[in-house]
Amino acid sequence: MVHVKLIVDHIKDTPIMLHIDEPVDTFPLLASMQNVDGCSITGNVQGDISVVREYKNIRVTGRITAPLALSCSRCLADYTSFIDTNFTLFFRKEAAVAASAEDELELGEMDLMSSTYSGDDIDLTHEIEEQVAMEIPSKPLCNEECKGLCHECGTDLNTSSCSCSKEPVRLAFNALKNFKIAVK
Ligand SMILES: [Zn+2]
Ligand SMILES: [Zn+2]
Repeated sequence: MVHVKLIVDHIKDTPIMLHIDEPVDTFPLLASMQNVDGCSITGNVQGDISVVREYKNIRVTGRITAPLALSCSRCLADYTSFIDTNFTLFFRKEAAVAASAEDELELGEMDLMSSTYSGDDIDLTHEIEEQVAMEIPSKPLCNEECKGLCHECGTDLNTSSCSCSKEPVRLAFNALKNFKIAVK
């Protein structure tokens, strides 16, 4: 198993630039999400990451990209997409966090982006895969306006129409539609 690791002692006030170009197998979370919910990552996870020491913290900022193959959750059409995400994370040494509980107030919203590390290195593998996983759509759509398939006859309503209903049916609003029927 390959890991994207930072050696803490190497991180100084001058930013270190890190280029990442790793297969999906490097990231256990992403590997487990492959081919789930009509989505797979079709190439390497790539990124440019900058690491710098900032006071007691280590600041990691970067941009991660990954190519995707998806199946639309409405019309089932296959399409491709691309994850392109920016992130900022702060790492603090684990012991220092416990010893400085009163620092918590100063940090405030920064805590939301904070992680801790212990030992001599920081493994970015998990942080990177979480950034990518957050960008994978749980309900992929080939297009925000995708009309989907007719749930009666299966006609792709993006390319043709059918005579099942005069009103266009949007599968995304099924719940709303059922509600309307109920109150009629
Ligand atoms: Zn679609
Ligand atoms: Zn139909």
